[in-house]
Amino acid sequence: MMEKDSTTRLMLFNTESREIESIVARDHLIRMYTCGPTIYDFAHIGNFRTYVFEDLLRRTLEFFGYKVVQAMNITDVDDKTIRGAIAKKGSLLEFTEPFRQAFFEDLQTLSIEKAEYYPAATDYIPEMIRVIERLIEKGCAYVSPNGSIYFKIKSFPTYGRLSHLRQEDLLPNASGDNDADEYDKENISDFVLWKVFDPARDGLICWDSPFGKGRPGWHIECSAMAMKLLGETIDIHCGGVDNMFPHHENEIAQSESFSGQRFVRHWVHVEHLIVDHKKMSKSLNNFYTLRDLLKRGYSGPQVRYLLLSTHYRSQLNFSLQGLDAAKASLGRLEDLILRLKSIQSNRSEESVSGLLLKADTDFKSALAADLNISAALAVLFDLVRELNTLSDANVLSKKDASEALALLEKWNKVLAVLPFQPEEQIPEDLTALLRQREQARKEKNYALSDQLRREIDARGYCLEDTPTGVRLKKK
Ligand code: AMP
Ligand code: ZN
Repeated sequence: MMEKDSTTRLMLFNTESREIESIVARDHLIRMYTCGPTIYDFAHIGNFRTYVFEDLLRRTLEFFGYKVVQAMNITDVDDKTIRGAIAKKGSLLEFTEPFRQAFFEDLQTLSIEKAEYYPAATDYIPEMIRVIERLIEKGCAYVSPNGSIYFKIKSFPTYGRLSHLRQEDLLPNASGDNDADEYDKENISDFVLWKVFDPARDGLICWDSPFGKGRPGWHIECSAMAMKLLGETIDIHCGGVDNMFPHHENEIAQSESFSGQRFVRHWVHVEHLIVDHKKMSKSLNNFYTLRDLLKRGYSGPQVRYLLLSTHYRSQLNFSLQGLDAAKASLGRLEDLILRLKSIQSNRSEESVSGLLLKADTDFKSALAADLNISAALAVLFDLVRELNTLSDANVLSKKDASEALALLEKWNKVLAVLPFQPEEQIPEDLTALLRQREQARKEKNYALSDQLRREIDARGYCLEDTPTGVRLKKK
């Protein structure tokens, strides 16, 4: 049963406690950290499943009245970006910049709200060095014979508490650094904090530090930037399930050893987008980028709808048929919006306000229950059916329709798939031209109607036939 009160509390599954817990803000603020992309290539839609969910979570928090401060890191230094820069005979920045820009364009195409911070790893090297120095001072990290620095996981007794692993169960490759020389470490599971410079691997790319030339490991990047930008304790930390171990486990160990404070209050992990039972990934070469799908004629909102419509703790099986179904569902919503906008009647049924109020309560309750998006979308489509039925029966007034539109627009602050913005952006004088053209056609004045069409065309808009009449669309 869904809760019915207006003070519904937002509840979210916490990977660490394995409980659904309520979100409690400190000083009305949610500090949220989301692991971001490595900019050596275009992100694929598996990555975007995670980023779209994180946006849904951010928007839901805002819907429930929280203020969110979010940081998403941009990894611009690692083996892959260095390899790419060397292959192109350019600097790291020259190699990564086009992928950074492409990433931001893709975020916009998918209507992902801007985070407050997008820190690039290369801008925070001094902060990372500071954390590593303190870890060495505290005896939690050591310099290996080859000069790289490792975190000593034996120094952190609760290592494994997020992914519910015991230290003795750790896999040999728990460190996550595939190129680390295992003989340099005291323990096979220790992970690298600072990689000593290797000209054969790194070309000219390195930074000076008190421990010699080198570069930071991947895990330390997130700890240093999260603590610098959001404080030593952050409220929500998200990522895909593959980040849970070892990356997030390592983030906890480094950060808590550094600060002596709890690092994250609430961990949220997104299940994978899969293809034929396998995780979509670059290494399996089973991926689509967003751009691949746009080239096939799909739109940002259609891809976003597909990515957000499966609950984040279930795997999402991607197929083009699934994307077609998402497109059709979104089409029904768009048709309803056009239909509501065209209603001019005064005839009304009293029940409409009550219907909208109940739907709003149910929608909010569904989101409050660990972002139960399937239930929220079911509420939405039940409402679509009921509004269409009322409209068929001619008992929706202009006022009812505008109340329904206001509700859809409110929900769209969370879903961000409905075409409210583009419609609003059409200049008023163009809408006037469209009305004149409709009138000219009614009067069979085809010369004038053609002339008005050409004027609209010259302004960069075309006319689109819809079930409820002709509308303007940006070309
Ligand atoms: P990466 O560039 O591999 O570090 O991934 C960036 C983000 O995308 C991380 O939060 C990953 O957990 C997430 N991710 C990678 N592949 C997938 C996938 N197939 N489905 C969902 N999330 C993914
Ligand atoms: Zn991270």
